[in-house]
Amino acid sequence: MKTIKTIYSPLFLTDYSTVDCENPDRIEFIHSKIKDIAEFIEPEACTLSDLALCHSESLIKTVARNKEVFDTAILAVGGAMMAAETALREPAFALVRPPGHHAGHDFNGGFCFFNNMAIAIKNLLSHDTIENALIVDIDLHYGNGTYDIVRSDPRITFRNIDARSREGFFRDLDEALSDGSSYDILGCSVGFDTYVRDWGGLLYGEDYHRVGSSLVTANRRLFCVLEGGYYIADLGTNAQFLLNGILKACS
Ligand SMILES: [Zn+2]
Repeated sequence: MKTIKTIYSPLFLTDYSTVDCENPDRIEFIHSKIKDIAEFIEPEACTLSDLALCHSESLIKTVARNKEVFDTAILAVGGAMMAAETALREPAFALVRPPGHHAGHDFNGGFCFFNNMAIAIKNLLSHDTIENALIVDIDLHYGNGTYDIVRSDPRITFRNIDARSREGFFRDLDEALSDGSSYDILGCSVGFDTYVRDWGGLLYGEDYHRVGSSLVTANRRLFCVLEGGYYIADLGTNAQFLLNGILKACS
């Protein structure tokens, strides 16, 4: 395997109004850095019934009031869904925006509108394509939205890595992945805000290579969905490390 299927659309560069740090450059920088190792595939927007797998009608209606945000957000959900479907055959990466892990059943926040990861997993479960799933969230921030949606579903195990040191991060990650092969799919909410020059100040660029390798070694049916990461100058390199880690372990 020389390239990794990467779900991406230029529409993720839509400059809808949000906080300054969560801007289209995040996607642009990653896209330009991973060209040699990514095979880009365009997603399709998800449907309202896909959104209803995880979100209340009132939340969906609230987000729909802003057409620019809504159109980008449903494409991001569709991108995560496509990455999850691809992962049944080979590892995949959803290079999507807006992120999703702070969106719960009836709330959202933290630059998130709909929960890309949770909908992607619930979609496969709803079609009996898989029977169970492991979600590992390595973003600096707690995946409160994902937890809110999946906590009552015994088919889904949610592990949030909440470490205060580099050593602690890898100890917790290894622990979270220790029974990774027993699940039908592994979804990783990838936030690069744990980076040493980002808010978290924990991981070096090379460490994402190890993360990618650990994930795909635990379960080949792996898909990663982009969440946070705000040190834009190195975001592309960090994503490159992650994907190379996955590719190397698969070769
Ligand atoms: Zn974050």
